[in-house]
Amino acid sequence: MKKNISFKEASELIMGEANRIKLQSEVIDLYQSLNRVVYNDIKAKISNPQWDNSAMDGFAVRVDDLKQIPATLRIIETIFAGDKPEAKLKKGEAAGIMTGAQIPEGADAVVPVEYTNVEGNFVKIMKKVEKEENIRKSGEDYKKGELLVKKGSKLNPAQIGLIASTGIGKLKVFRNPEVAIIVTGTELTDYKKNLKEGKIYDSNSYSLYAQVLLENCKPFLIKLVKDDKRAIKNSIVRALKKDVLIVSGGISMGKADYVKEVLSDLKGRFIFSKVRQRPGNPFTFLKLNGKPVFLLPGNPVSTEVCFEIYVRPFLQKICGLKNVNQNVINCRIKETIKVKKGKTYFLRVLLKKEEEEVQAFLTGPQGSGIITSMSKADGILIVKEDCEEIKKDCIMPVFPLSWSKFC
Ligand code: AMP
Ligand code: MG
Repeated sequence: MKKNISFKEASELIMGEANRIKLQSEVIDLYQSLNRVVYNDIKAKISNPQWDNSAMDGFAVRVDDLKQIPATLRIIETIFAGDKPEAKLKKGEAAGIMTGAQIPEGADAVVPVEYTNVEGNFVKIMKKVEKEENIRKSGEDYKKGELLVKKGSKLNPAQIGLIASTGIGKLKVFRNPEVAIIVTGTELTDYKKNLKEGKIYDSNSYSLYAQVLLENCKPFLIKLVKDDKRAIKNSIVRALKKDVLIVSGGISMGKADYVKEVLSDLKGRFIFSKVRQRPGNPFTFLKLNGKPVFLLPGNPVSTEVCFEIYVRPFLQKICGLKNVNQNVINCRIKETIKVKKGKTYFLRVLLKKEEEEVQAFLTGPQGSGIITSMSKADGILIVKEDCEEIKKDCIMPVFPLSWSKFC
């Protein structure tokens, strides 16, 4: 087991494990596919449009018949969207046509209805049109066999519509992992109860549940687990049915911090313990019965930050996402910040868009118990280990929080 490693090494070890996990798939209804990640490249089953069709309500004509304007043409039929045209258009003929209706053979343009006058079985065309004007050509959108959506893309409503347009109503997606969240701490109290002296309300259950949901995984919550070896062991054994385990609290040096001991007894294979970082120094990662287990320190800010920095990209990867979101925004830091060398700092910052640049401001005191430092934040300013001071007005990369509008 590695101990007290750097932020970079911890990230690499975690993503290395993510790459080794065999991902599973399931077939779902297209209606249920929002934010799901596609398992295979999706190719067009047909060309779109399949047939040349009209972009306007009007008359399908032969451009050669419109050399003299106005031109009077005989109406041979009216074609509605969904109809199959009955006849081929011959010299001197026109067909009434609605938007989306198939262009009849022989026609090579559509004159919009506003430039026409109907007189009995005849139509007077008042305006010239170019060849192919107001015709949507077969395959102009996409051609049969063309790649529509790449494997590993997270589906949005427009992509879902695109897939539907080619006649696909069910599709294979990556199965969303089930994530067990075990929240430990004898001091934790349910919101329905009054706080007894010394106790606190449990907030990590709620923030972690929401963070897991935001990554489209299925949370399975085991909360209010006492700092008791048997209670911890039972909760871990229950959680092992899920794909990923997250434990909050009970992993530091305190006399009631039993989580690691219990996991050692269960023959967990520790990959690393502790990271040179603030907040979240005790953060630990292991595998138990082949399942990845993240141990997050219980301080609410440490929990949320460790999730964002480490667990979120891991979950994205095992959800099948090709592009794991680790984008950073270059921001102008609006105050001088002093830190101690030897640790990576994850400072919570509020971001403001100012003309050409994004400015970053600390969200106030940065202690790991200051929950508001996180709730006010848009992003995390990552200060490298060898840095002691960030000077006001310098440009630094900020990692946007998954729920921020800057993400
Ligand atoms: P621990 O990691 O168990 O040593 O906890 C560190 C700090 O975080 C302590 O002050 C705990 O009371 C607090 N804490 C632990 N778990 C939670 C939780 N679920 N919700 C809010 N605070 C917590
Ligand atoms: Mg505790």
